[in-house]
Amino acid sequence: MKKVFTIGRYFRKKLGEEVYKVPLSIAGFTCPNIDGTVAKGGCTFCLNESFSPNLAEKSSKKFYLHPDRPENPLLPKQLEQVRRQYDATSKRLAAKYGVKKFIAYFQSFTNTYAPFDTLKALYEEALRQPGCVGLSIGTRSDSVSDEILDYLADLSQKYEVWVEYGIQSIYDETLQKINRGHDSANVKEWIEKSKAKGLNVCGHVIFGLPDETETMMLETVRTSLTWGIDSIKIHPLYVVKNTALAVDYLKGRFTPIDESTYIRLVVQSIEMLPKNVSVQRVTAGINDDTLLAPEWCRCKHTQMKHIRKALKEAGYIY
Ligand code: SF4
Repeated sequence: MKKVFTIGRYFRKKLGEEVYKVPLSIAGFTCPNIDGTVAKGGCTFCLNESFSPNLAEKSSKKFYLHPDRPENPLLPKQLEQVRRQYDATSKRLAAKYGVKKFIAYFQSFTNTYAPFDTLKALYEEALRQPGCVGLSIGTRSDSVSDEILDYLADLSQKYEVWVEYGIQSIYDETLQKINRGHDSANVKEWIEKSKAKGLNVCGHVIFGLPDETETMMLETVRTSLTWGIDSIKIHPLYVVKNTALAVDYLKGRFTPIDESTYIRLVVQSIEMLPKNVSVQRVTAGINDDTLLAPEWCRCKHTQMKHIRKALKEAGYIY
């Protein structure tokens, strides 16, 4: 049996012990696909609270960050959120799993979409917290800059630094259908730049996007690997209420991927990963009344049980 090279195994190999991610959700962050800069309404499936289960505090309704506006009256509150959220989650993880090292994970919305001074202040506050050995920054490829990447590359000399890009699909027609607001060439460009600057890159892909075939989904994984990603997250597309995708679903214009197809594609994706590419996530879901479909995305525990079984049959231990 082969062991899937999970991110946990990557951290144990590189840092010699368990490292857990501590999700952070900072008020005032938004996304250029939501604030109208590149598109309006966001990705058709996006209800950010649903995709960030640890979203503890919603963003301020009164003030949102923008990279071109240097003022940020929320900074003291944001710094306090970093300290408080990190403290609460790291202590809980330490008590439950005995883990002592953590990566501060800027998860919700687009975490490079803010004035540079704000980003520096928040990232460095996180790195000052006890046991914090690095950063993981979730973002979009149209929301990074050479200035940010150079700064992160400097930090990476001392810390474990990851940039997580939403790839979702390499097909522009799909990206248009989900109102992504950027094309695939933009993702390729910034992933390759990030790699050239020495950063660790994680790529998110989604299976079950509108009108995609299995061949297209696997091609997204294959092509993302050629761009140099170091790690992958794979999600099924699920439908939550109050999204454009929910309207399509309710009108019969969108059918979610079924579980057996999804699992088969996950196994095939893992089979194509080079040895050095780690796996951060192979499923996603939400167990509350925002979920419309598919029902199998309600319980991540059951999903993982089925995925582990399929991987075992293919000769892998997850
Ligand atoms: S990029 Fe992320 S936060 Fe922005 S609209 Fe899409 S899913 Fe939502």
